[in-house]
Amino acid sequence: MNHREITNIDYGFRLNGNPILFYKDRSLAADESTHQMEKALRQLSMEYYVFDRCLQCGICSSSCPFSMLKIDEHFSPRTFIQKTRLGLLDLDKEELWTCTNCGSCQMVCPFEIKLPEVMAQLRHLVVEQGAGHVPLSIKSSTSSIASCGNPWREETATRTKWLRENGITQDTSDNKKSIHIFLGCLAGYDRRAHKTAEAAMHILKIAGIHFKILADDEVCCGDTACRVGDFSTAKRVKKINEENFLRNNIEKLYVLSPHCFSTFKDLFSSKEMKNIKTAPLIELIHQLFRSRTIKVNGNIEKKVTFHDPCFFSKHLDIIDQPREILQEIPGIEFVEMEHYGKKSLCCGGGGGGIWRDVKKGERLSEVRLDEAIAVGAQIVVTNCPYCLSMLEDARQGDEKYKFLEIMDIFELIRKGMNYENN
Ligand code: SF4
Ligand code: SF4
Repeated sequence: MNHREITNIDYGFRLNGNPILFYKDRSLAADESTHQMEKALRQLSMEYYVFDRCLQCGICSSSCPFSMLKIDEHFSPRTFIQKTRLGLLDLDKEELWTCTNCGSCQMVCPFEIKLPEVMAQLRHLVVEQGAGHVPLSIKSSTSSIASCGNPWREETATRTKWLRENGITQDTSDNKKSIHIFLGCLAGYDRRAHKTAEAAMHILKIAGIHFKILADDEVCCGDTACRVGDFSTAKRVKKINEENFLRNNIEKLYVLSPHCFSTFKDLFSSKEMKNIKTAPLIELIHQLFRSRTIKVNGNIEKKVTFHDPCFFSKHLDIIDQPREILQEIPGIEFVEMEHYGKKSLCCGGGGGGIWRDVKKGERLSEVRLDEAIAVGAQIVVTNCPYCLSMLEDARQGDEKYKFLEIMDIFELIRKGMNYENN
């Protein structure tokens, strides 16, 4: 191996037990067998060089939700960066898949190091260039998205079947005022998330909003593919969705999931799509609330807290709207958890985390439910299908959480409208 000054090392990896170190001039210190890898790596973006700016202050690690886990060794972004720079990152280990892309670290880093973006590039190296081990669950979800447009190899028609079975009818006229709804994969296929979407549709119906659900005409938004570094699949589904949106002459598109919305942000800035107005559905429901189009009469005598989805609070600054709604529902005693708003704690579902098997006792969702219990909450409300699924799994996994109710805000609003049995 070519020994140069250690200060010249920019970043590196360990591949099959051999260190591959990179120097500022992008040359490699590795054996001949890594020429293919070198070729692939040279195509990578300059984003890696941001690690050079890290001063190892550790502020990111103390804001990272993994620091809240009560275990001896937990993931730390500061250590991850240092290991990567020194060529000690093992691309065959789980460590590369731990970060949930919550965004806490990049909010506090004095040098604006955007770790989630770099993480996606590193994962890309493994997923598409074969530089290391991809967990089976991640592999299976992305290959299903690539071949079937959803992470479970389900048929497209299933996305609408449950709507029909639940009597959710949509506007079939040419009404120009109709809005379009993008369900997302969880609301399309997952039974628990169906209830959220169903509640949202009922609220819109009562408010007299005409809507069409894309359902049959949508495929996965590409969030998982993008975050785990499968850029080819992300690009493919993006193109299909783009064609579908244009073919449906959409003027206003409302999106249920913060992950879908965040993924679409780039898409809607393109020349072809810029005439389509898009927003998260919570914004429309919030407006309907403020204009008193939606009235909540039911008395919910419960202590309620709100778990902020990271992709709303940290990534998109959507913090006040759900709280304003909750505080208007009669009977509710609203309490904040220790971490809320921009400083909220991640549920563990982002960045591909929803597909990983994490041992009981090491789940971020458990830390979150502990915080809810600490403030005496009886209902934990959120507004993201990933958060709902992660928190619900944690609740079911331990007797001490069983008394809690986990609800999406749309479900709680519908309950408050006394509409549940209508
Ligand atoms: S906060 Fe920024 S500079 Fe400090 S250790 Fe983390 S990444 Fe490095
Ligand atoms: S994005 Fe979130 S989970 Fe990932 S390193 Fe940063 S703070 Fe930790």
